[in-house]
Amino acid sequence: MSADPHRAGRELVATACRVLGRRGLVDGVLGHVSMRVDADRLLVRCRGPRERGVVLTEPEDVRLVDLAGNHVETSEGWQVPKELPIHTEVLRTRPEAAAVVHAHPRSVLIAGLAGLAPRAMFGAYNIPAMHLALGGVPVYERSVLISRPELAQEMLAAMGTRPACILRGHGITTVGASVEQATLTALDLELLCSVTLELARLGAAPPVVPETDQAELPDLGRAFNDGLRWRALVAELDERKAADA
Ligand SMILES: [Zn+2]
Repeated sequence: MSADPHRAGRELVATACRVLGRRGLVDGVLGHVSMRVDADRLLVRCRGPRERGVVLTEPEDVRLVDLAGNHVETSEGWQVPKELPIHTEVLRTRPEAAAVVHAHPRSVLIAGLAGLAPRAMFGAYNIPAMHLALGGVPVYERSVLISRPELAQEMLAAMGTRPACILRGHGITTVGASVEQATLTALDLELLCSVTLELARLGAAPPVVPETDQAELPDLGRAFNDGLRWRALVAELDERKAADA
């Protein structure tokens, strides 16, 4: 049997699913991650015959499908996500996107329903998250299941060219130049919303970080930061796995 040419991609997407699960951005079987393979195909997390939830995704649960949503390999027992159009329409519409994350983080849900927008209230605590807030996080106002391409296109119209979008009453979609980047953006958005919520509960509304302080916060480039942060997240997973064994 020939080696699987998509093994590394499957492992990466499965790792992203596990990271999102461990960090509480996905619960149970809801949520999925995809990665562009070429102009017509993507790898996407599917529900499998041994389904145990997104946090326990295995590389075999990451299947090769085309932009029309058809399996292009033997996939008996695996179901593509009902919201696959989120992935296929993003990849069709945004050529710079190499990966897509869709998740249902509770903090984003509650902040969104409360009408609380993430703001750049902190700086050095988490610089990428501050930059995400400064650039703005658009909101797609409909809480529908995005199960049709036209609904995904509505979401994309709201999202514009931003890396993240809040789906009000539903969840989030993030986009990245890599699986790692899309996943880290999802974690940053969850952090922004959970801090926003905690502050709102305290009745606090701190100002946005002053521009003079923003100017002092180094932008080390996403590649450098993302690599370091990703390695730490994978190490955390490995450590838990060893502890659970
Ligand atoms: Zn969803």
